[in-house]
Amino acid sequence: MTDTLKDQRPATAGRTDPKIHLALTHDWELRGDGSGDIEQIQFAPLRRLLDIYKTFGARTTFLPDVMQQITFRRFQKRSDDLKRNADLWDEHARDAYAAGHDIQLHLHSQWSDARHEKGKWHLPGAWSLLKHDLDSAKQMIAESKRYLEELLQPIDSHYRCVAFRASALALAPSLHLLSSLADLGIQIDVSMAAGFYLNNETLQLDYRNCEETFLPYYPRLDDARYVSDKREPIACVPLNHFYGSRREVTKQNLALASARVTRRAKASTGPATRPQLDTQTSGVARVYEKLIAPALKRKHFVSDLSRLNYPLMREMLASIRRRARASGLAQIPVVLTNHPKDIRDWDAIERFVGELAEAVDVEFITLSELAEGTKSGEFEVRIASQQSLPSA
Ligand SMILES: [Zn+2]
Repeated sequence: MTDTLKDQRPATAGRTDPKIHLALTHDWELRGDGSGDIEQIQFAPLRRLLDIYKTFGARTTFLPDVMQQITFRRFQKRSDDLKRNADLWDEHARDAYAAGHDIQLHLHSQWSDARHEKGKWHLPGAWSLLKHDLDSAKQMIAESKRYLEELLQPIDSHYRCVAFRASALALAPSLHLLSSLADLGIQIDVSMAAGFYLNNETLQLDYRNCEETFLPYYPRLDDARYVSDKREPIACVPLNHFYGSRREVTKQNLALASARVTRRAKASTGPATRPQLDTQTSGVARVYEKLIAPALKRKHFVSDLSRLNYPLMREMLASIRRRARASGLAQIPVVLTNHPKDIRDWDAIERFVGELAEAVDVEFITLSELAEGTKSGEFEVRIASQQSLPSA
């Protein structure tokens, strides 16, 4: 049976709705090549999100790219600007934490050999942590984790960095990454978005055949795409994914295509740097890929609020509810992501968060609470001998 057909499966009648413990997370960072105005794409969107969350009493988790910040600190003597922005970064992270949000670890390994010339970053390091050897990967994780703990423990001595999301979701396969994370005290990973596939010069990932696509599970330590047959020192809580309907996907693609045309028109007349998008693909192939192909079959989405319009957010929530009911479990943790630097539709986010806050079957949870819940048994964590669940 295909994923799409399974989606149509009716909910079991007569059962109370399961409680969905929703972790809204945010990869908080500059662009992958180090570009972008940090006030515009990091600080301002964080403040705006905090305002929205305050209105609705939502507690969420920010996942700052800590390698970026460590690199700013490393270079701060050379430029007042870098020093000021590094201080502001700390301040924003502390403010978010003080407002009841969680701060956990994300890191982009391309910052490892950074250079700063004429006000610009040059990041020659490998984008995927999977391409760094054990020692260099482990050192980056350890250093970044320590940075967060030293930043936040002065305001909360109980703060621990216990959750991790890999850059570009590059977690598996790796002979050492999960063991290193566990050694360093990371209890949950939130990188595994089933169905995700990427194959370009910088990144190659294939999560199309993950064994568990929805519920927390103990991963095989050499390859997180597989469920371990025993309890492990670290658990994976999948990054949610869903399949958008033809109608909404086509509408969203048309909106994106027209936004891209407008951006390009602006780029060709103004001094702004042109985004490095789709330069390899011809116009016709691009139209087929972006507009026609998704209309023929339902399209896979990582549940990333910055990439979704409001109707797709609703479809995502419907898919989560369907799968939660199908699981037969009473308590289901679900992880969503967001990229503040890419948010286009603030009204949609505000409206959606408002609705989540009202929903009786949804409760906001931070990643620290999620980690605690997987340890305490509040949330079931699958091992391989247990029954697999229907996918999205
Ligand atoms: Zn990132």
